[in-house]
Amino acid sequence: MRKIALHWRILIGMLLGVLIGLIGAQFSWGPGLVSDWIKPFGQIFIKLLKLIAVPLVIVSLAKGVTDFKDLSALSKIGGRTIAFYLFTTVLAVVLGLFLVNFFAPGANVSEETLSALSADSTSMMTEKIAMKDEAGPKGPLNFFVELVPDNMFSAISNNSNMLQVIFVTIFFSISMLLLPNTVVEPLKKIIDATNAVMLKMVDLIMITAPYAVVALIAALIVETTNGELFIALSKYAILLLSGMVMLLGIYTLLVYLYTKKSPLFFLRGILPAQLTALSTSSSMATLPVTMRCVEENLGVEKEISSFVCPVGATINMDATSLMQAIAAVFVCQVMGHDLNLSDQLTIVLTATLASIGAAAAPSAGIIMLVIVLESVGFPSGKLAVALAMIMSVDRPLDMGRTVINISGDSCVSVLVAKSLGKLR
Ligand code: ASP
Repeated sequence: MRKIALHWRILIGMLLGVLIGLIGAQFSWGPGLVSDWIKPFGQIFIKLLKLIAVPLVIVSLAKGVTDFKDLSALSKIGGRTIAFYLFTTVLAVVLGLFLVNFFAPGANVSEETLSALSADSTSMMTEKIAMKDEAGPKGPLNFFVELVPDNMFSAISNNSNMLQVIFVTIFFSISMLLLPNTVVEPLKKIIDATNAVMLKMVDLIMITAPYAVVALIAALIVETTNGELFIALSKYAILLLSGMVMLLGIYTLLVYLYTKKSPLFFLRGILPAQLTALSTSSSMATLPVTMRCVEENLGVEKEISSFVCPVGATINMDATSLMQAIAAVFVCQVMGHDLNLSDQLTIVLTATLASIGAAAAPSAGIIMLVIVLESVGFPSGKLAVALAMIMSVDRPLDMGRTVINISGDSCVSVLVAKSLGKLR
């Protein structure tokens, strides 16, 4: 029998998950059964992907950097990556502002919809608002202060601070590069071998992906309780989804214009990563799959992908910044809070920074929305209701955002690789 391609198996898994979820939701005991006996398999899959992410980044980045002949190539990659990432993020925010101002989806959301937000979800939001104080920017140079860890070992064992992992690895690898080959040769061999093992581990984890996706999607369906609100807020949701589709179109176009590779080549190449993103809602959990797709399917050389993908998963979240812009203006429209031009420019700045600062994890974008809303003087008394409203429809949108976020990282990987002659 011919082997069915991975993305088809994941898609079949998703459909099966929807089916199991819908059936489970019909019975009183269904949700409990799915949560207790099916969901854990999905959670294990996410954990497996996350456990591989940091070591994979360390060895593949170390391999990438130590394969360079000198340091100038590295600074070229760094400069271009940051420039491309900033460009796509600002583009996403501007696109979001254009769409939300043009279509004004929040102009007539009914009172009933607002009051449908229970006291429960509002108090949950108060917690999220408190969380933002931890996540929010502290001083102008704080980003750089936090980039440098004070303990190398704790830094490289910490999933939640990928930029510190990248910093330590680059520092270590540059030092290796500056030493004679005879001295570092044994270390290089270890890195090469570990790299091969890590890639094998990713392969093994991905064999389980279609089954894990059944579990993740079934659990999602039985746990979704706010379908009605979703419809009430559908204008916001549709606008955000349309913006995301446009972003995907822009990436495909950029890849085509810059490399002459067909749009289908790009889309088909990243499909397994997109489906993993859809099921996990986490760019970080998807990172091992993104790297694999970018290297094997899109032909980006390892020294580029090993730097561009992990940096992108951490700081480049175009769909998150698009959402910040649309959601911020949308809630202002709903609550009758007027925004002038300088407020909109403030949104461009804060939404860009917020998406850079957002964790590559489920619902991270919501926490950052507080910062954007506060920057345009949104009344703090109404913040909890505003967030509850956005949160109530956020689960499926978060899935979509993650798909677009990793697609943006893949697009920039291709562009950077092409610009440096590292695209096969
Ligand atoms: N879940 C998104 C990601 O991991 C972040 C967000 O927008 O909430 O890419």
